[in-house]
Amino acid sequence: MDRIDFRSDTVTWPTQSMREAMAEASVGDDVYGEDPTVNQLEKLAAELVGKDEGLFVASGTMGNITAILSHTTHGDEAIVGHDSHVMRAEGGGMSRLGGVMPKPLPTDDLGRMSLEQIVKAVSPDDPHYPITRLILVENTYGKKNGYPLPPEYFAEVYDIAQDHGLSVHMDGARLFNAAVALNVDVKTITQSVDSVMFCLSKGLCAPVGSILCGSSPFIKRARRERKVLGGAMRQAGILAAAGLVALNEMIERLATDHANASKIATGLARIPGVDVDPDLVLTNIVFFDLNNDVDLTAEAVVGMMRARANIWLDVDDEKRMRIVTHYWVGEAEIKLLLDQLEEILTDRRLS
Ligand SMILES: *Cc1c(COP(=O)(O)O)cnc(C)c1O
Repeated sequence: MDRIDFRSDTVTWPTQSMREAMAEASVGDDVYGEDPTVNQLEKLAAELVGKDEGLFVASGTMGNITAILSHTTHGDEAIVGHDSHVMRAEGGGMSRLGGVMPKPLPTDDLGRMSLEQIVKAVSPDDPHYPITRLILVENTYGKKNGYPLPPEYFAEVYDIAQDHGLSVHMDGARLFNAAVALNVDVKTITQSVDSVMFCLSKGLCAPVGSILCGSSPFIKRARRERKVLGGAMRQAGILAAAGLVALNEMIERLATDHANASKIATGLARIPGVDVDPDLVLTNIVFFDLNNDVDLTAEAVVGMMRARANIWLDVDDEKRMRIVTHYWVGEAEIKLLLDQLEEILTDRRLS
């Protein structure tokens, strides 16, 4: 990469091995179910997460909205974390396209809705209330440093869902980051949800695509919803070929991204003027704040980093920034990042 891009793991380019697999992929018309590469990818994905079937979709957002449309009907209610991706960053799709009412609950420092509040949020069977149908969970939890929530939490949420006849969908955009960070088989997490979406295109480096997995009847319905959304693609095997490389070659190495993020958080903690909690950085996302000793906004710092060294960071708030590690940033880039940031902040502290 000519620019050093820490804004997100969505910026990752496909690897050489992906480009070769794409060039050589066998393809067919996937709307007829005849693309062998898509079929192979959907099968492998379903096996990995322990579900009956998988469905290749164009993006994580499409996977989540397809799942929501498949679990609900108009007027239903979904319990969801207030700062989850599906709540704040997917264009309000659940209400716009699904007529689904979100019932947002606060999340704690790790991204958990409290079990007590989930139980309370289930509406009584009374004509005054919408019908509560779905619980939406997220892992890793993006807004909380990509925290990898443990299988035990989802098992407890699933118990509640089953007691009340609700479905659970997991936005697992970075599901494999969670499994690698926790050192567990991904199935120990996904056994406690009815459906799960994960992205091939983030840390796993595929250029396009996500997979939605669930039971056979659920995926049958999801195939219909995907068609309505305009997401049934034809010779999609060209894209699925990169997805297969992502699943076969790119999962284990996520540990390197996590170690790099941890290194960055520890380095940031040593820079005067920066507030960060390295203990919360277990995957590839680092949020950090400028404290009151610094008379600069996050926007200004990000601008200076670009101008000085072509290093790109994400602005999250007035004084808050985000760094995400991935395949295309390593030791040298991390050293440059920390050195440049320290120089900028040492120059510009109030004293
Ligand atoms: C990126 C992301 C999505 C959406 O994926 P897109 O492919 O960008 O649509 C959904 N949920 C989470 C937690 C994400 O980080």
